[in-house]
Parts: sequence; structure tokens; C-alpha cells
Amino acid sequence: MTSRRIFVTTALPYANGAFHIGHIMEYIQADIWVRFQRMQGHEVHFVGADDAHGAPIMIAAEKAGKTPQQFVSEIAAGRKRYLDGFHIEFDNWHSTDSPENTELSQDIYKRLKAAGLTYAKPVEQFYDPVKGMFLADRYIKGECPKCGAKDQYGDACEVCSSVYAPTELKNPYSTLSGATPELRTSDHYFFKLSDARCVTFLKEWLDAPGRLQPQVANKAREWLEGKGDQALGDWDISRDAPYFGIPIPDVPGKYFYVWLDAPIGYLASFKNYCAKKGIDFEKFLTDPDTEQIHFIGKDIIYFHTLFWPAMLRFADKPYKVPDHVYVHGFITVSGEKMSKSRGTGISPLRYLDVGMNPEWLRYYIAAKLNANVEDVDFNPDDFMARVNSDLIGKYVNIASRCAGFIGKRFDGRLSSVVKNPLLSDIQAAATEIAKLYEAREYGKALREIMFHTDNANGFIAQVKPWELAKQTGQDAALHQCCTDAINIFRLLTIYLKPVLPKLASQVEALLNVKPLVWSDAQTWLPEQHAINEYKYLMSRVDEKQLDALFELPKETPTVTASTPHPTSPAKTEEATNVAATPTINIDDFAKVDLRIAKITNAEHVEGADKLLKLTLDVGTLGTRQVFAGIKSAYDPATLIGKVTVVVANLAPRKMKFGLSEGMVLAASGETPGIFLLSPDSGAQPGMKVK
Ligand SMILES: [Zn+2]
Repeated sequence: MTSRRIFVTTALPYANGAFHIGHIMEYIQADIWVRFQRMQGHEVHFVGADDAHGAPIMIAAEKAGKTPQQFVSEIAAGRKRYLDGFHIEFDNWHSTDSPENTELSQDIYKRLKAAGLTYAKPVEQFYDPVKGMFLADRYIKGECPKCGAKDQYGDACEVCSSVYAPTELKNPYSTLSGATPELRTSDHYFFKLSDARCVTFLKEWLDAPGRLQPQVANKAREWLEGKGDQALGDWDISRDAPYFGIPIPDVPGKYFYVWLDAPIGYLASFKNYCAKKGIDFEKFLTDPDTEQIHFIGKDIIYFHTLFWPAMLRFADKPYKVPDHVYVHGFITVSGEKMSKSRGTGISPLRYLDVGMNPEWLRYYIAAKLNANVEDVDFNPDDFMARVNSDLIGKYVNIASRCAGFIGKRFDGRLSSVVKNPLLSDIQAAATEIAKLYEAREYGKALREIMFHTDNANGFIAQVKPWELAKQTGQDAALHQCCTDAINIFRLLTIYLKPVLPKLASQVEALLNVKPLVWSDAQTWLPEQHAINEYKYLMSRVDEKQLDALFELPKETPTVTASTPHPTSPAKTEEATNVAATPTINIDDFAKVDLRIAKITNAEHVEGADKLLKLTLDVGTLGTRQVFAGIKSAYDPATLIGKVTVVVANLAPRKMKFGLSEGMVLAASGETPGIFLLSPDSGAQPGMKVK
């Protein structure tokens, strides 16, 4: 088998909020594929990055009182916890707000310009005279021109569903300043997607067999061949200052639209990685054997199957066009599309925080994924049933029933494998299972693996090692049966390893073998091979964990600055009166790091009804900024110098007004009033409360 050389990316997440479960699903899909390719011995480079530019981030940063760079770097700092938490192993994580991306974006633009594929044209657009900036449609509201409903967005009415241009709104206003927008004209730069060269190239690119899923290629062809209103348009790639983005060379005051530089961020992250690893970036891309593969969601097909390949083709070498764009659907929860405001959906951090095993989710998502653009539904009952039955009841069961006898009765050493049809069958399945992983038919791959796992359990149930162990003169039979079972378990572990990397490494330790690769399925463990003592491999899903996962958190979930209607933190306090609270043990209590804190500053927060901004001295833990819903009860001036108690290890929470790095403790009840806790005199900042 010849070794492949593959460059893999996932879509770049917009850096205005934490990862949601949809991101995690995509990363799991790509990570499984990458791990599978590596087990085949292929060279794979898997990179990601934050998509950092654009007006929404610029505006969110301004609201938070930060520079866009600060705002984005705080979001980026939170990424690792999610990626590590779900065993998602990118080789590199970078940002589109980087020197590499500036260089590559400007280079690609210059090449497209030289090829005659860009032009400038005046565009009339609403302008906010107070903010001094042009307004995207989403920042304009007014009265619906059809039904007169107030506060409708610039593109469509939520009341009567009619669609219109922002210029048709009655009494339009800027949502940023409230000012009446003015129509102004400015030159915009365009990428000439309608050029005959682009159209001819894209037809050919879309037709390449196996490049795209058939439904994706068909959709892209419809756009490409669109007629009348639907005709393929040129692409507006510029935005006027002020804009957080990459300057267009030689045109002062103009920036690339975020969607131009976002996909170039794939290459920027890879280039950054190449520099670290001593790989020749240009040589790698120009090598005809290199495969460039993007995993994306179905909402961004247009960009990735039209603009992106056309940009790369006409920017020419060293840039190469994508070999494949693999598209997945969305994730729903019990059939409902996730929505933060309705409180459905799964918070990935909450999943980890309530102690759920990340490999359960990897397995469940893999079991539901196929090569089509279909939505994946997370159903809690199905999740628990499938994980408990497949992973614990079937797979782990093989080792837990047989490994102990090898240790106790045979000094940890195996006998030699007796080839029987069952073992040969499971061994021969390696080829078919590999084909399914390659084709991203993970659901089918796991069904095939579970079919063999069922057969293995059937074999054990028939031979009954636990009965052989009680009989005299059956040592050889017991040794043989357990040896065969352990070898089967090893094969199944190879097959499951792309999905369950952590569990596989635990099994490798148990079996006393080097990291398993796909070709290991062609061999058996040798006679006399010593395995280690069996240790507990994986627990079952507990229904209580699922209850905790879906219970509405008392604290609001991380509210991103872009969320249109963030739940005010003070509001959640009203919902905390719970009649009965289940008991916890001392270990649970010890998880809360309570510290004495001195309030060194307290101030009002502009635009906040219930919050005060507190600066706390927490002794050795340093200074913390906390937003507390105590404005109705305290004048900030009276708080300065007070000593109180803070939850010091509460995950920092990004709020509309900035980052809150803890929670001060206060009492409240049915009657009005909020009462801040204070310790007896003598308590010093930083002291532990326990
Ligand atoms: Zn209307």
C-alpha cells in the first residue's frame, strides 16, 4: 500500500463565542477520519483556526470594552479545554488574524487581480452617521413596508414573513446607535465568479467523480447554472473602514470581507504549522500527491464549492484546489434544532463537567454518522441504551470475563491462538471496516464491529470460561478460550480505536502492546505473551448524569456577545429558589473553592439594570473582576473596603459587559433584599473558607 499525504481541515469557528455541540460533532467526525488514516500509516496534517475578523466581532469587542484582538484571544484561550476534553487532536490551532493569513490573503488577491478576475464598482448602502460606518443588513431595523410591524430586521419581517431590501423599511434606524441611517455610495471590490473561466473550471471541478457527495455536487451545480434572479453573481469581497480585517493592498480604507480571508485561514494555520515542523509549505502544496480535504457543515456549501475552489484555481500554484469537501448535517436534540434561548441543546462543557465520558459521545455520534448530508439526532434514551449495550455490555464484557483468568490462573501469559472460523472472520473484517471508515460510513463500520462483538460474546457464552474454571482438568481449555477471547478483544480494539482513542490506549496497557495500528489486525499475540492485570475500563452511562446534562443550569450558560437577547444574570437569581436540594458528600463540597475577598473597587455598569462590577483582592489568587446582581441593594461606594466570600474556581463567564471571574455570595429569599455575606473580622483576602 502506498502512503498518502493528506492535509485536513474543519470549518473555522467564528471567534465570538464558545464551541457548541455542532462544532464538537464536526471535530469528532474529522478526528475519527484522521486517526483512521494515521492507523493506516498515512501522513496526515490536521489543522484548525479561529475565524477572527468581521463586523460582528468588532462590535462585540467594542461593547465588551476590549480591542478585537483581546476579545478574540480570550475566546481562543478557551478552545483547548473542549478539544482536549473530547480527545480531538488538531496538529495546530491558529487564527485568521495572523501574519500568515494577511500575507496569503493579500497574495491570493493580487494574483486574482492580475488574472483580471477582480473589479471595483460603486455600491449604495446604509451608513450610520453616528458610528461613522456602513451597516450590514442585520444592523438595520425599522417598520415592515408590508404590514407595518415595528422593529423588523433589514431583510425580512418576522411577523408577516415578507422579504424586502433594507432601503424599503419605513423609519429605519441603526441598531448600533439608534440613528437614522443615510444612503451613501462607496466603491466595493468584486471577485468575478461569473467569468467564463471560473464557470468552466467549476463545472469540471464539480464533475470530478468522488470529489463531492452527489447531493452537494448537485446543489452547487444548481447555483452555478442559476438563471434569472438566481443567476450566478459576482462576489463583493470588500468592506469599508472601520472594519476588523485584512487591508486590501493599495486601496486605503478598504478591507477584505471576512468570508474572503476565512478559508484562507486553513492555509495560514497550515503554513504556521509547517514553519514549526520544518515542512516546506509550498513544496507540500504543489506535490501532485498531496490531498487537500475540508470537513464542513451544510450551511457553508456555497462558499466551499464555488468561491473557494475558484479562488485557489486562479491564484494558481502553489495553491491547489480542494480534492474533497466532505459535508455533514446539523445535530438536533430529541428531534429539535438546538436553540440557546429555549434551553435545549447540549453544552459540551456541561457534558464534561457532570462527569460524562467523552468517548460515549464520540461513539454515539459516530454510530449515527454516515456519508450523506443528514442531520444527526441526539436522543438521551437512545444514547444511554446504545453506549451501555454496545460498549459496556458487549465490548468491554469480553475482556472483563476473560482477562482475569489469564492473570490468576496462567501467570498473565497467553496460550497460542487456535484458528477457528470465528477468529478468521473477525480478522478478515479489517478490510471491510477500513473501507467504511474511509468512506465516512462510521455508523455502518460500528454496526459491522458490533456484529463481530456479538459473535465473540456468543462464543464466550458457549464455552463458559467461568464454569471451566471450576472444573478440574479443564485448565488447557480455559487457557485456550481466554487466549482466543483476548485476541478477539485486541482485534475489536484496533477497529474501534479511531472512535475510542483513550479506551484503546487503556487496552494497549492491559495487553502490554505498542500503540495498535491497522495492520496489527493481520497478526495474533504470540504464545507466552504476558498481559497486565485487568483494570476497570469504562463505566456505564448513569441516568442521573443525563438528567444533570439537560437540567437548566442555575447560572446562565455562557452567553456570547453576539446573542441577541442574553438572559440577564440577575434574572437567573430569581430562579434559584429550589424547594429541596439533594444532599452532597464532603468531596462534592470540597470542589468549591471558597475564598475570602476584599472589594477594592465597585462601580455601576453602563446599560446593566441589576449588575455592579466589583474588583476583588483574593490574596495569593490575585485580582478578580466579578459582575454581581446586587445593584438594587447596594450603593457601590459603600461596598469598597468590605470583605466577603467568593467562589474562586467558578469557570470564567463571558457576559455582555465583560468577563466575570467568580461569584460573590449573597443571601436572598421570598422577601425583598439581597445580603452580601461577610466573615468575622480578622479574615484575610485569599483565606480558604471550609
Ligand atoms: Zn411585516
